[in-house]
Amino acid sequence: MTSLSFEDLPVRDDLRGQSPYGAPQAPVPVALNVNENTHPVPDEVVADVVAAVAEALRGVNRYPDREFTELREGFARYLGHGLDASNIWAANGSNEVLQHIMQAFAGPGRTVFGFAPTYSMYPLLARGVGSDWVAGTRGEAFEIDPADAAAQVREARPDVVLLCAPNNPTGTPLPRDVIEAVYDATDGVVVVDEAYAEFSRGAGSALPLLEGRERLVVSRTMSKAFAYAGARVGYLAAHPAFVDALRLVRLPYHLSALTQAAAVAALRHAETMLRTVDDIVAQRDRIAAGLADLGYAVYPSGANFVLFAGVPDPRAMFSALRERGILIRDIGIPGHLRVTAGTVEESTLFLEAMADLTP
Ligand SMILES: *Cc1c(COP(=O)(O)O)cnc(C)c1O
Repeated sequence: MTSLSFEDLPVRDDLRGQSPYGAPQAPVPVALNVNENTHPVPDEVVADVVAAVAEALRGVNRYPDREFTELREGFARYLGHGLDASNIWAANGSNEVLQHIMQAFAGPGRTVFGFAPTYSMYPLLARGVGSDWVAGTRGEAFEIDPADAAAQVREARPDVVLLCAPNNPTGTPLPRDVIEAVYDATDGVVVVDEAYAEFSRGAGSALPLLEGRERLVVSRTMSKAFAYAGARVGYLAAHPAFVDALRLVRLPYHLSALTQAAAVAALRHAETMLRTVDDIVAQRDRIAAGLADLGYAVYPSGANFVLFAGVPDPRAMFSALRERGILIRDIGIPGHLRVTAGTVEESTLFLEAMADLTP
């Protein structure tokens, strides 16, 4: 066959010239590039999940519970704050949750706003539904000032605001007064993406702000602290009316019976699933201190990763680490690199390599 590009096909005009999301998925001994929890799921939980999935398999000739009620009840219990199943939505990763929000509240001719640099999927999710992506700005250390944030949002008049808290790729925590100021500055939907909330031990979560704010949404995932990235389970909490809007755009039975069973079983063991969080936070702080000792500028992080600056050639450093079997993330900010906090051993290997590679 002659070589063909997708652009040779009658693809949508607005997709021409774009590239897909894709961090490298090379099999390396030390993969610290996509903020996964690098600890495996504990054996006792695996056994229970396997039993639950086996049971679900017996009924897999039928479509699953379209309303994934048991799972929504589980997430409501886990989140607390007086939430119940009617406040909860879930999908195959929080990326699909965000896509549902885009489909229901953004769409062609509408505007999606976020403070850059932020999660690289946001612009792709916006463009995927034909919306304009507008990037706001942050301060020197990537912080957001409430009054400035409100002014930027008033100017952009977005239909959806995506706030990442703590922010990926910078780690920056988001104070609640920013969320309140942004909410009051728009008639649109405000999504607080709390993918890393467990690593901040819930500090600064927007969950207490939900009451009385029907356009506010808190999005979460099992991909990070829960060590469940491969299972693809994300969820959100919002007003029940907001959840109703998402029912209009989801595909029928979008959460498979196997996914539902695996997630419900894991949630029953939430405490065990989350017991690596303290270790990861300790490694994050150790990596931050180690990099600072080597002379790098390290940003405060409320997540399971560290952004650092003072790298003269990030690409060269990325490649040198890669040659040693260590994969981190070149996030495209000049002079900066991002590394996920791994196990004690992984973090040690990273810090030793950095010590070697730093002149
Ligand atoms: C990792 C991450 C997610 C999680 O995505 P899933 O689809 O749930 O795996 C969401 N938001 C941000 C900012 C992330 O970094």
